[in-house]
Amino acid sequence: MYSYENSGDATRSPNEFYTPVRKKTSPTRQNPPETLRPPAAEHSAKAIQHVSTYLRQLREHYFAVARPLSHQHKASMASCFSPALLDQVRIVQLEGQRVPTPSFYAEARALGFSNLPEVTHMDSVTFLDVVVFNETLTERSLFHALVHAVQFQILGVERYTELFVQSFMRTKTYFTVPLEAHAFSLVSKFLRPSPERFSVEDHVRQWVADGRY
Ligand SMILES: [Zn+2]
Repeated sequence: MYSYENSGDATRSPNEFYTPVRKKTSPTRQNPPETLRPPAAEHSAKAIQHVSTYLRQLREHYFAVARPLSHQHKASMASCFSPALLDQVRIVQLEGQRVPTPSFYAEARALGFSNLPEVTHMDSVTFLDVVVFNETLTERSLFHALVHAVQFQILGVERYTELFVQSFMRTKTYFTVPLEAHAFSLVSKFLRPSPERFSVEDHVRQWVADGRY
C-alpha cells in the first residue's frame, strides 16, 4: 500500500512549505515508477464523498436534539451575522460525550493521511447549520462556528467539503486550511478591544470571489 507521505509530485504544490516535519523527503526527489503513483484524484474524490456524507449524517442526527440560539447569543453576534442566519442555526451542547471520530478515519490513516483534524478535541464542530459544542459554548467558539455556517451556506456542502479536503491534502495541517484560517482571523477581528461592525457574509463572499479558499 502506498502512502501520500512518500508519493510522487502528483500531490505536491507550492503550499508544501507548510507541510509539518512528519513528511519524509526523498533525497533525490525522483518520481516513483508510474505504477506506484497514487491515484490522488481518486482518493480526493473518495475523501470528499466520505466527508460530505459524514457532515450531512451528523447534521441530521444532531438536528433532532438541537435548539435555536438564545436571544442573548443572537444579540452578541448581531453585529456580524444576519438575523436570517442567526434564526436558522441550531446548537447542541454536549455534556459527558463528544462528537465521535468519523468512521472513515481508519481507512484514511491506512492510506497514509496523518494529522487528521481531531474532532473530539475541537471546541465545536459545525455540521452545515447545526453546531455541536464539545466544550461549553463561549462567545469565541460560537463566533468561529458561525463563520463555518456562513461558509456552508455560501459555498454549499459539496464545494465546502471539496475545498476543505483539497486544501488539507496540500497543507496536511488543519489550521492552515483557508476555511479554518479565515474563521480564526475573523474571530480575532471580532474580539479586538474596540470591535467594529462587519459582515462575515461579505468577508466570506469576498474570499470566494478572490479564490482564497
Ligand atoms: Zn473551525
